[in-house]
Amino acid sequence: MGYIEPAPIKDLENPFESMMSRFHIAAQHLGLDDEIYNVLKSPARQVIVTLPITMDDGSIQVFEGYRVIHSTILGPSKGGVRYDMGVNIDEVKALAAWMTWKCAVVDIPYGGAKGGIKCNPRAMSAGEIERLTRAYTEAMVDVFGADRDIPAPDMGTGPREMAWMMDAYSRSKGMTVNAVVTGKPLVLGGSLGRTEATGRGVMVSALAAMEKLKINPYKATMAVQGFGNVGSFAALLLEERGATIKAISDISGGYFNDNGINIKEAIDYRNNNNGTLEGFQGAEKIDGNEVLELEVDVLIPAAKEDVINNDNVNNIKAKLIVEGANGPTSAKADKVINEKGIMVAPDILANAGGVTVSYFEWVQNRLGYKWTGERVNRRSDRIMKDAFEMVYKTSLEYNVPMRIAAYIVAIDKVAKTYKFRGGY
Ligand code: NAD
Repeated sequence: MGYIEPAPIKDLENPFESMMSRFHIAAQHLGLDDEIYNVLKSPARQVIVTLPITMDDGSIQVFEGYRVIHSTILGPSKGGVRYDMGVNIDEVKALAAWMTWKCAVVDIPYGGAKGGIKCNPRAMSAGEIERLTRAYTEAMVDVFGADRDIPAPDMGTGPREMAWMMDAYSRSKGMTVNAVVTGKPLVLGGSLGRTEATGRGVMVSALAAMEKLKINPYKATMAVQGFGNVGSFAALLLEERGATIKAISDISGGYFNDNGINIKEAIDYRNNNNGTLEGFQGAEKIDGNEVLELEVDVLIPAAKEDVINNDNVNNIKAKLIVEGANGPTSAKADKVINEKGIMVAPDILANAGGVTVSYFEWVQNRLGYKWTGERVNRRSDRIMKDAFEMVYKTSLEYNVPMRIAAYIVAIDKVAKTYKFRGGY
């Protein structure tokens, strides 16, 4: 339930192609010429390495590691490293491109990258994972760099792996370089505020959108799907700002209370109950899918991809959807959502609070200084609010939904920067 850097999850209905289809629509609105379009859709660099690792039983197993840098047009590239058996070069390419748009939309000075190792970390000992992580880092020593390419956690990796990466990289350089990765443990230069950063950004996006829709937070009702890192912090922070969270859900099902769920109690319950809400008494148990279709002002999908799709989109009653998860709305459902006049704060914008605080971690490491949690929150709130306003303004200017507007903002920024910098 820790922090991970944003990345869409590969799935059947809403994979890279649906992101590219939205990218394509935005490019058309911008009148992007074919040349720039081709530059932006191709990754700048792709690296594949072979990593022979001595396993605990003395045998040598060979792993394949990847790093794809999609773009460094806006700055050093940024993106997580995932450890999963499903990792392959095409997936890493897609996720790297996605990071470029994500960083551009919140206006942080990074390009996009992604990395991964095809492995099953659950079947490996800590020692094996450490050796693999160090071998991967050494193989990538000329790719990574505090000013070049900065990894972060993703699926299957966390602060522990980031600490090993930072150490392996630092040893190879003969000095401590903590700015080379983000998502590190606090004592190694991690940032305060990082754990709750994504949920906090969801809260800021929700409030900004509610202001546009003239929904009073004190009278607003909400439903939150997913009660992990993103969903529970978003729910808690919105409740603190006056909203009534009528329903929450996790893998165990839905929980409804017409008078509002006490989110702090729900979090405490989950924390003492193996991470699940199963058996939570502060609400009536309902079907998990019902949570999406309730009569509430704001719906926050914060669990997984493609949960709002052709099958249920007609039943959605919320006026506003704030996407905490990556890709919770399938491309096919976009049309109905737009026809119904539902505002969407899209994933690429609404859940960018995590990468924003990763950026702050890097800034603090480079300054050799630690910010207070209060400063981190204040600055990330401002970045999220400014990004929301920019996307909203663009949606009015181009007369497009917020999702397309977010892509327009991102692509326009990268394309303009490319033109100023010039090619060969
Ligand atoms: P998490 O593992 O902490 O929590 C996921 C939650 O979703 C759990 O409560 C789980 O029980 C619940 N869930 C799973 N399947 C469900 C279902 N079918 N119905 C209802 N609930 C279900 O994960 P997280 O870090 O909170 O991430 C959630 C989403 O947000 C993912 O799409 C992730 O990619 C995205 N995201 C996360 C971050 C971050 O910083 N953690 C950043 C950007 C985007």
